[in-house]
Amino acid sequence: RFGLKKQPVSAFIALGANLGDAPATLRWALGAIAALTGTRLVRSSSLYRSAPIDSSGPDYINAVAEVATTLHAPALLAALQQIELAAGRERPYRNAPRTLDLDILLYGDASIHSPHLQVPHPRMGERAFVLVPLAEIAPVRVSAAQLAAVQGQAITRLG
Ligand code: ATP
Ligand code: CA
Ligand code: CA
Repeated sequence: RFGLKKQPVSAFIALGANLGDAPATLRWALGAIAALTGTRLVRSSSLYRSAPIDSSGPDYINAVAEVATTLHAPALLAALQQIELAAGRERPYRNAPRTLDLDILLYGDASIHSPHLQVPHPRMGERAFVLVPLAEIAPVRVSAAQLAAVQGQAITRLG
């Protein structure tokens, strides 16, 4: 439907959930991402727990995964949104608690500024729950200054 690229691109995906069995949902989502057409799961971070920021409800469980994918970025976003829907994602209001959120953080070195997709994710630098798991699996992608800027945000690595 969208066509495939010839060479795989390294993309980083943020996973988050704070409704239902969030750790189980994230593990399920990693499997669903790994099963996408033209997509290989390269590595995934530990699971982390963080308090809601600009949001409400229970603590979040967060992780970041790297994929190598031949999907174009809009096709990857559409596929991730299908996985969110399969996990029961609803959007009653902005920043509502959610069963599953999948955001594209980075897609190779692409800069994308379309109405439906902005990459790098415009708010990733403000969020410890993104930067800390990203630094775990791709330390060269996160600077010490970026981590220092979010060090006031509590985040706990789970076993
Ligand atoms: P935030 O983007 O601040 O993390 P959110 O994840 O709660 O907020 P959603 O309701 O999940 O926001 O998504 C709203 C829209 O954001 C999506 O429909 C999608 O089109 C758009 N979007 C733009 N850039 C991205 C991206 N890099 N990854 C995922 N969605 C994106
Ligand atoms: Ca998000
Ligand atoms: Ca999202």
